[in-house]
Amino acid sequence: MKKNNDLPERELTLQRIEAAKRKLGKDLLILAHFYQGDDIIRFADFVGDSLQLAEKASLHKEARYIVFCSVSFMAETARMLCAPGQEVLHPEPNARCPLADMAAIEGVEEVWKDLQTLNRKIIPVVYVNSNADLKAFCARHGGTVCTSSNVKKIFNHVLSQGASIFFFPDENMGRNVSHDLGLKDDEIFLWDPEKGLTGAGNTSPEKAKVFLWEGFCIVHRIMGRREIESLRSRYEGIKIIVHPECTPEVYNLADYAGSTSYIKNMVDTSAPGSTWAIGTEWNFVNRIKTGNPDKLVIPLKEERCKEMAKVTPKKLLYVLEGLVEGELRNKVTVGEGIAGEARIALKRMMEIV
Ligand code: SF4
Repeated sequence: MKKNNDLPERELTLQRIEAAKRKLGKDLLILAHFYQGDDIIRFADFVGDSLQLAEKASLHKEARYIVFCSVSFMAETARMLCAPGQEVLHPEPNARCPLADMAAIEGVEEVWKDLQTLNRKIIPVVYVNSNADLKAFCARHGGTVCTSSNVKKIFNHVLSQGASIFFFPDENMGRNVSHDLGLKDDEIFLWDPEKGLTGAGNTSPEKAKVFLWEGFCIVHRIMGRREIESLRSRYEGIKIIVHPECTPEVYNLADYAGSTSYIKNMVDTSAPGSTWAIGTEWNFVNRIKTGNPDKLVIPLKEERCKEMAKVTPKKLLYVLEGLVEGELRNKVTVGEGIAGEARIALKRMMEIV
């Protein structure tokens, strides 16, 4: 039998995580996003998309410690939604979503100031992939948050009040959902920081119902027409399903589009023998493939999120062994002023959906 110190490093790390998890028992809740690697997912108490994980964080009041395996904005969201006595820890605070970081509060406030000169009712809507100060900004200005699962509902809710939407930071998602709701390209205004209200392209701000920020997800933007055409020519009857962070071109060429939970559900419940190409993060696609051995599941492109991958078993172990020793390592904090406001925007979202 191998002694512990003869085990390869990876196995030893996994064993130590298991042991720490056992010691912490019900005090510990590990949440992991769908895009995490298998060596993290195996220890998660819940795996889900950002909305599902936010809900778990707000419901599990019995756990003293929530360890959030994902990028930083999700850990921040959990911090804002859980009880004051609970602690949220993040194995890798430097795992940050590049899309979230494409919109900074100063720039958003500048755009907002210009939009006010239009003298119309405009409501800010921020994608959950954003930093806490932007969620707080939305709360201050009567706006809300949305996720990829509920973005259509939220847009519809705002537009049905006769208001226009200022949506940030993901241009592709904003454009895709606007099209789904029947808006034409000349009703969608892409904010160009150089040109302001004089506009990029030929859309006039007077006509616009949706104002978009120029941000994108580097993982989803890379998926293109070429991959779709090549798969369609090789696999007869293949169904293409993509995430709404993909470009409008890919979104329109796909057969289905929706959040990670929607994608999982569609493939899991499809007929045995069906063939799917999935346009989203590779770890997630690979897990769907493993869970559906009776179907052919192919990634539209093998693209991993490098930021999600910064959360490793070693970093998880560091946080868990800290807890065993009574030490809070990589504790997530959000200033109470920002957190209080951001919570209002998150609650508004929960009420609408
Ligand atoms: S997949 Fe895209 S949106 Fe998700 S964390 Fe990575 S960069 Fe951000």
